[in-house]
Amino acid sequence: MQILTTAAGLHAYTETARRAGRRLGLVPTMGALHAGHLQLVAAARAQCDEVIATIFVNPTQFNNPDDFRLYPRVPEADADLLRPAGCTALFVPAVEEMYPQPTVLRFDFGPLERVMEGAHRPGHFNGVATVVSKLFHLARPHQAFFGQKDWQQVAVVRQLVADLSFDLEIVACPTMREADGLAMSSRNRRLDAEARTSAPLLYRVLTAAAAQVRQGVLPARVQAAAEAALAAEPRCTPEYFAVADAQTLQPLRAYEPGRAVVLCLAVHLGGVRLIDNVVVG
Ligand code: AMP
Repeated sequence: MQILTTAAGLHAYTETARRAGRRLGLVPTMGALHAGHLQLVAAARAQCDEVIATIFVNPTQFNNPDDFRLYPRVPEADADLLRPAGCTALFVPAVEEMYPQPTVLRFDFGPLERVMEGAHRPGHFNGVATVVSKLFHLARPHQAFFGQKDWQQVAVVRQLVADLSFDLEIVACPTMREADGLAMSSRNRRLDAEARTSAPLLYRVLTAAAAQVRQGVLPARVQAAAEAALAAEPRCTPEYFAVADAQTLQPLRAYEPGRAVVLCLAVHLGGVRLIDNVVVG
């Protein structure tokens, strides 16, 4: 596995591989890798000749300085996981390498980002779109692999690809969970023992809400029941619980036949912000 730290190095590596006729898969991450990330690497490996993982804790997508400062960083352990997983190149740039100058361009994804993560983390998707665009330009992959754990991010990145005519395919992979249902996340490392014990509540609430959606319980009632169940856990502070159209991400007042529903939540649990979602239909 080739370790690349400069934008020029990444560009040279991927252009050489592209000219040799190799199919390139890109797996963008912020590191502190777990089985959810490795699943993306495995999917890329199954479909591509080159698997280029990137690890970059992107400052422009954090609206909370403490969240950025405390984000887990374990680059050596990450490289040790990626090598046997079949990753052929790892790009680990410094902040100055990705941002030699402050960016001026601002992305606006309209209604897609006026809800959920976009509404609660101002500037978040501008930062995501900026760094993802840079990575797409530098690596020019044939396919890029993202997790449905970040459902809204996948929607925003698909919009980015469509609007800017990036010549690549976005592949979305299912959410990997711990045995007790907790969605794998780098931030889980920051949960203390007590918070970790409470954390399976998130998926339990999502699963119960999904059952209600299937029974036709109105979105407002599903939302109220889920918010109450989350708030009943003393260490949990719910930020939002949304019952939304799975494509447009807009909140639903009623269900439409044939249209999938996504249930998304964000909570603070013992001081750590966690998100999760399930799709119904
Ligand atoms: P992150 O390092 O958190 O930015 O995540 C990098 C990529 O891995 C994103 O596309 C995430 O959606 C994806 N990912 C994170 N956690 C999971 C998970 N539990 N299952 C599947 N994909 C995930």
